[in-house]
Amino acid sequence: RTVYLNGDYLPETEAKVSIFDRGFLMGDGVYEVTSVLDGKILEFAGHMARLTRSLAELGMGNPLSEEEWLEAHRQLVARNEVTEGMVYLQVTRGNPGDRDFAYPPEDTPQTVVMFTQSKPGLADNPQAKTGVRVISLPDLRWSRRDIKTVQLLYPSMAKMEAKAKGVDDAWLVEDGFVTEGTSNNTYIVKDGKIITRQLSTDILHGITRSSLLRYAAEAQMQIEERPFTIAEAQAADEAFFTSASAFVMPVVEVDGVTLGAGKPGPVATRLRELYLEESRKSAV
Ligand code: PMP
Repeated sequence: RTVYLNGDYLPETEAKVSIFDRGFLMGDGVYEVTSVLDGKILEFAGHMARLTRSLAELGMGNPLSEEEWLEAHRQLVARNEVTEGMVYLQVTRGNPGDRDFAYPPEDTPQTVVMFTQSKPGLADNPQAKTGVRVISLPDLRWSRRDIKTVQLLYPSMAKMEAKAKGVDDAWLVEDGFVTEGTSNNTYIVKDGKIITRQLSTDILHGITRSSLLRYAAEAQMQIEERPFTIAEAQAADEAFFTSASAFVMPVVEVDGVTLGAGKPGPVATRLRELYLEESRKSAV
């Protein structure tokens, strides 16, 4: 695989980063994941806007222009012959050497890393036809979940606990309400209405979420942005989650309780089709 490191395209075995990089020592960095369908990048502008915002929240500038980011995405997709899959990008604060809680000087070069993951069949994911099962777990992450940092230890722990319990993912709960999934935004459907938690620092502002809500509103579907509980999810007609790599994924079981008919419902199914259709149209 060819990867990107600070302006160079290299075989993955030759891409080397300093052990003093604050991304490695302190989780001091941010990332984005975009999907590729038909060799094109989905929701590129949205991911770029969130990247700039995440960097700014951590006191960092954006090392590349939007045109340079797009060129790097396209180069990697072409060089690795990705038709369906993902592009991962990460910007960490770098570090000239020595470990220190204080940031290094502002002119310290950041470390920019990118790679692709080929996933043939991403759009046609069989899981979307059966739906997935989730458990709830306490949300023990930090309080700035709107910044897309590389600090993913708790989401990984929660994912492992879900797997150990024989299900697919965990929905995180704080103060009695679902915040989001380990790596996705969460929704329930009741009497035809789509209910999802409103944006705040409590959740990541999903790019898939914002586009999907726009497409759904344009299709005259009803949307309510408010927190919901696990009990409400269990009593819902349908549930689903969204992320750049899962698109719209139906959820058919929450903490052992089967939702509706135990298979993907009409709203989630329609939203998945709508999302794939619309996001393909704006792919670059
Ligand atoms: N919430 C969390 C915690 C996530 O990690 C992700 C995906 N990285 C999302 C939501 C979904 O965001 P997006 O639709 O931009 O992929």
